[in-house]
Amino acid sequence: MAVVGRYAPSPSGRQHLGNARTALLAWLHARAQGGRFVLRIEDLDPIRCRAIHERTVIEDLRWLGIDWDEGPDVGGGHGPYRQSERSSHYAEALARLDTFACTCTRRELRDAAAAPHGVEPVYPGTCLRHGAVAGRPAAIRWHAPPGRARAEDPRMGVLEQDVATEIGDFVLRRGDGAWAYQLAVVVDDAAMGVTDVVRGEDLWTSTPRQVWLQRALQLPSVRYLHVPLLLADGGDKLSKRHGAPDIAALREGGADPQRVVAALARSAGLVSPSIHAVAAAALVADFAPSRIVDGPLSLEPTA
Ligand code: GLU
Ligand code: ZN
Repeated sequence: MAVVGRYAPSPSGRQHLGNARTALLAWLHARAQGGRFVLRIEDLDPIRCRAIHERTVIEDLRWLGIDWDEGPDVGGGHGPYRQSERSSHYAEALARLDTFACTCTRRELRDAAAAPHGVEPVYPGTCLRHGAVAGRPAAIRWHAPPGRARAEDPRMGVLEQDVATEIGDFVLRRGDGAWAYQLAVVVDDAAMGVTDVVRGEDLWTSTPRQVWLQRALQLPSVRYLHVPLLLADGGDKLSKRHGAPDIAALREGGADPQRVVAALARSAGLVSPSIHAVAAAALVADFAPSRIVDGPLSLEPTA
C-alpha cells in the first residue's frame, strides 16, 4: 500500500528547532518509502492559534527544504487542511460513537478524584449515571468500551491500556464547542489516507486512546513512529526560555538552511558529527527509523 505521511503542527507560536526536527523526520520517513506527504494545520484551539503562525510554519518548512503534496497552501483531494474548517467531519464521527453530555466543572472532577496532582484524573462517571445539569455548558464525552487498546511502535515498543478504566470516558468536544485533539487527529488521519504517523514522543501515551477510537469508528489503523523530543541542556523540553532560536529567527537572520538541517540531522544521528551543511533531500536515500538517536543539538559541528 502506498505510504502517506504527514506533519500536523499547531500554529500556536513560532516553531522551534525541536518542531523542525520532528517535521524533518516525518518527511524523511515518508519520502524514503516513496510516499506522499501532507501538511495539516491543527488549529483547533481558537484562542491560541493564529493565521500568522501558520504562514510562518509554511515558510519555515519550505526554507528547510521540506515539501508536501497536500496542504492548506497547495490544496489536494482530501481538504480542507485546517482542522478549524473540518467540524462537519468531527460531528459525523461523533454521531457514530456512544457519547453523553458532561457538565462537571474542573473543580468537581478534581475533588472527585484521588489522582496525584498534575495527573489527569479518571472520569468518575458522574454525568453518565446522574445525567448532565441543565443550563450548564456541556462537554461531550465518549463512553469508551471495555477492552485493551494496543499501541505499537518500533522505537517505543508496546503500550496496552484499558482505556475505559485507566483513562475513563474522555472528552471529544469541550463545553465551549472546541473539538478535542484525540478525535480530530483520528478522523483526519483516516480521511487523508495517512498510513504512517511520525510525531514527538510526548504523544505516545495518547496513542492507545487513538487506537481505541479508530477501532470504534472502524477506521484503518496506522503505523506509528514516535521520535525523541529535542531537549535543552538539563533535560527540559526545548523552549524559548532556554535561548533556543526559533526557525523563523534563524531564517530572518540570514542563516544557511542547510546548516540548520545539518544540525538537526546530526542531533538525530542521521549524519556524522562533522557534517556542516546538507540539503534535506540529500538525507532521504540513507534514512531509516532505526538510525534515529536522541542526541543533543548543537548548531555548530562538533568534530
Ligand atoms: N498538533 C500536534 C502538535 O503540534 C501533533 C499531533 C500529531 O502529530 O498527532 O503537537
Ligand atoms: Zn460529568
